[in-house]
Amino acid sequence: MHEFILSIVFLSIGSFSSVLIYRLPLMESSKKEINLFYPRSHCPQCKHTLSNKNLIPLIGYLLNYGKCSFCNHKISFIYLMNEAIHLLVGLSIFHYFGFSEIALFSYIIFTLLYVLLILDFKFFYLPLSLNILFIFISLISNMFFGLFISEQSSYFNITPALYSFYGFMVGFLSLWLVNAVYKFFTKKDGIGGGDFILFGGIGTLIGPFYLPLVLLFGSLSSLIIYLMLKKKSTSDEIPLGSGLICGFFVYVFLSFCELIDNLIVL
Ligand SMILES: [Zn+2]
Repeated sequence: MHEFILSIVFLSIGSFSSVLIYRLPLMESSKKEINLFYPRSHCPQCKHTLSNKNLIPLIGYLLNYGKCSFCNHKISFIYLMNEAIHLLVGLSIFHYFGFSEIALFSYIIFTLLYVLLILDFKFFYLPLSLNILFIFISLISNMFFGLFISEQSSYFNITPALYSFYGFMVGFLSLWLVNAVYKFFTKKDGIGGGDFILFGGIGTLIGPFYLPLVLLFGSLSSLIIYLMLKKKSTSDEIPLGSGLICGFFVYVFLSFCELIDNLIVL
């Protein structure tokens, strides 16, 4: 029964992530009255407001075979993907940590990073509000629940909050510095400001020492994403933010498999 209720919550959060992904860029760019809750969800093609049945995550999509029930316009597969991924990751996190604050905060962090990843991938856009929320949640997770850095901060005999702060500074300043050098020679920005803050946020979460590893995985991921995008568009921009988040997920996966330290010893 627990799992059933949790699954519904995860699916709803997945559905809300779609709202964030589609509305945040519109709220930023258009002057029309639009916010996260207004106007109600509608078909992008015929603008028909979705019925309550269609709003049910996963089921609404499947019941209509992924089409709008008014005009038969094909609804993007991404909606279904957002919901399914939120369900799978949510169940895995709560299975691993049990029903606890750590599970809750890990899940919030996952959702924030997921939304940032897709936004940067699709629109090269990392909203400041989400970035700041990510930093804030990361700090709280470390200060009160020792999510990532409790061992390291006690090894150096400093408080988790201070250790997180160092992580932020190292993350933010390292990318800022790379950009400053790039700008000095080319007179234009190479890395977006959102990327500095995002990497600072990842530093807040995992502390300064593993950041180079995340940057390495992140750069490789960015390169793969760039090559994927290159096929579709002529843009020369690289979504570094998406890459960094993929790099972070790779790091988390490896550290939970206890492979990170072996990797560093090698
Ligand atoms: Zn329609």
